[in-house]
Amino acid sequence: MIIQPKVRGFICTTAHPAGCQAVVRQQIDYIKAQPHTDGPKKVLVIGASMGYGLASRITAAYSFGAATIGVIFDKPAGGVRTASSGWYNTAAFEGFAQADGLYARTINGDAYSQAVKEQTIDLIKKDLGKVDMVVYSLASPRRTTADGTTYSSVLKTVGQPYTNKTIDLKNRVVSDITVQPATEEEIAATVKVMGGEDWKDWISALKAADALEDSAVTVAYSYIGPDITHPMYADGSIGKAKDDLFAASRQITAEGTQAYISVNKALVTQSSAAIPIVPLYISILYKVMKAHGTHEGCIEQMYRLMNQKLFNGAAVTDEENRIRLDDLEMQPEIQSEVQELWSTIATENLGTHADIDGYFEDFYRLFGFGIDGVDYTADLDPAVAIPSLA
Ligand code: NAD
Repeated sequence: MIIQPKVRGFICTTAHPAGCQAVVRQQIDYIKAQPHTDGPKKVLVIGASMGYGLASRITAAYSFGAATIGVIFDKPAGGVRTASSGWYNTAAFEGFAQADGLYARTINGDAYSQAVKEQTIDLIKKDLGKVDMVVYSLASPRRTTADGTTYSSVLKTVGQPYTNKTIDLKNRVVSDITVQPATEEEIAATVKVMGGEDWKDWISALKAADALEDSAVTVAYSYIGPDITHPMYADGSIGKAKDDLFAASRQITAEGTQAYISVNKALVTQSSAAIPIVPLYISILYKVMKAHGTHEGCIEQMYRLMNQKLFNGAAVTDEENRIRLDDLEMQPEIQSEVQELWSTIATENLGTHADIDGYFEDFYRLFGFGIDGVDYTADLDPAVAIPSLA
């Protein structure tokens, strides 16, 4: 099969195995080239196939030599369909890890389910005994609970509608969008999906099975961002879920396992592309941070998290005990330049006011496209095995 990108809305329905492999290789090479601190050696990553979770897995493996178990929810190739990029990423990661003598196993299934929790715990008990770090990096539009109810998360405001600029990524047109407030029921459902309940369930299940070291650390990811995004994000329905995630970190810590929220930078991932207003903000942010030489991707962020903020002596936190990887994004000079560009951005000046090309470069990279050195005219077999699932 000759694999080309097929973009529908804000997702790409195809993925390129050689491209995804090259992107994973680049992330591994980045970590290998950095100085390392000492850190956890047996790491469970929930949501390990893309974005921040994948970068967390790569960082733990290649900074600390950690054995990693990744929980993913991805599709293998079938018929004329390619596998999902998370599938190819995981296949590539396991291949590289094996070649480098690192333990890496994967569970593919719904992380919210009891069955996947049990399967994961069985594997930990069998191969590792206990884990000493749990990364919780799920980003999902829905969750089905044990009683069979399915909850869907929404990306809406809370209370009032909010109008601001957004970008239609398909046509590269800037226009105003009014985001409507979520109902109470929608807010509660968003909290069910993206809040802290399932994180707490994972930690309780691991503890009950004696699969978690007493000294273990667990981390989940959040976002705050500037005022222009607050009604949509920090103060919106997803923000309510993130408040719940933060409350969960306190509860997990109070119950004896050190839990942190890491507030990460806004980046192009499959999840962030779906949020109104935010992609336009990201493309301006990229422009400003690249000009200042402070731009980072997921792997640079996760490198700093693990080697500088979490495990290099005492954790570096703000007054609310959160780790702030958004420190560079939120620098006053960065935000005032973003604000200035935001106030005048329009379709006609997108090229000068925002790094739209950088945005799309990152978007296509998520699916393994646009990578130097990859032959996109090659006829490939899309069926690639994840070694531990083969
Ligand atoms: P992503 O879409 O790149 O990755 C999400 C991962 O979760 C994927 O590996 C996906 O396969 C997995 N997943 C989803 N549903 C699953 C399920 N039911 N079972 C198992 N795995 C499942 O997302 P991301 O942007 O890396 O987000 C990860 C976390 O980081 C989220 O909590 C998000 O809110 C947070 N965050 C993201 C940004 C950003 O700008 N992208 C910024 C700060 C914080």
